[in-house]
Amino acid sequence: IVHPDNAGRNWRLGVMGGTFDPIHHGHLVAASEVAARFGLDEVVFVPTGVPWQKAGREVSMPEDRYLMTVIATASNPRFSVSRVDIDRPGDTYTVDTLKDLRRLRGDKLELFFITGADALAKILTWRGAEELFDLAHFIGVSRPGVPLGEEDIKHLPSDKVTLLEVPAMAISSTDCRTRVREDLPIWYLVPDGIVQYIAKRGLYGGGAASGPKQA
Ligand code: ATP
Ligand code: MG
Repeated sequence: IVHPDNAGRNWRLGVMGGTFDPIHHGHLVAASEVAARFGLDEVVFVPTGVPWQKAGREVSMPEDRYLMTVIATASNPRFSVSRVDIDRPGDTYTVDTLKDLRRLRGDKLELFFITGADALAKILTWRGAEELFDLAHFIGVSRPGVPLGEEDIKHLPSDKVTLLEVPAMAISSTDCRTRVREDLPIWYLVPDGIVQYIAKRGLYGGGAASGPKQA
C-alpha cells in the first residue's frame, strides 16, 4: 500500500507477532493503541509457525490461526496479516520475521515490533538478539497483572525500546481456550466472527464442528 501523502518518507510499519490461538480483543486494542501513539501507517499481524516457546502444548493448525487473524483484522484499513512465519519451515524467530518483512517491503520502511512487556524482558534471550535492535524499534505493551518493569528493561538500549500502557485488558488466548472447553462464553472477549469460526471448526474441544471438514 503506498499512499500519495506518504511519498518521500518511510512507511511506519508495526509488527504484531503472536500465536493468535485465538486472536482476541487484547491483541487488537494493543495494536490500535500503539498505532495511534506512534503514528503508524499500518500494523501487520504475523501468526507464528511452530511456536518454539510453546512446545509441549497442542497449537491449532497454522491455517486456522491465520484465518482467524484475517477475520479479526479485516475491517480495519490499517491492519493487515502476513504469512511469512507460517510459510517459513521450522521454528519462528523474530529476527527472521523482521528480515523477511524488510526484504518483502523494501527499504523505505521503519519497523516497530509490538510485544507484551513480559516477553520484552526476555528479549535478550531470543536468537539473534544482537541484530534485533538494528532491524526494529521495540514496544512493550503492559498487560494487567504484568507490571511494567522499567527495571526489567534497563539493560536494553533506551532509544530502541519503549514501554506503553494500553487500556487494561485481562484477556488471554489461554483463558479463551479454557472457556470454550468449559462451555463458558467468549462473546465480547474476541470478535464475533472468531466466536463463530471457533464453533464452525470445533476448535479447543468445545463440541463438534458445525462446519465442513477441512481438506
Ligand atoms: P497464550 O495465552 O496462548 O499465551 P496470548 O493471549 O498471550 O496467548 P499471544 O498470541 O501469545 O497471546 O500474544 C501475542 C502478543 O500479544 C504477545 O506479545 C502478548 O504479550 C501480547 N498480548 C496478549 N494478550 C494481550 C493483552 N490482553 N493485552 C496486551 N497485549 C497482549
Ligand atoms: Mg502469551
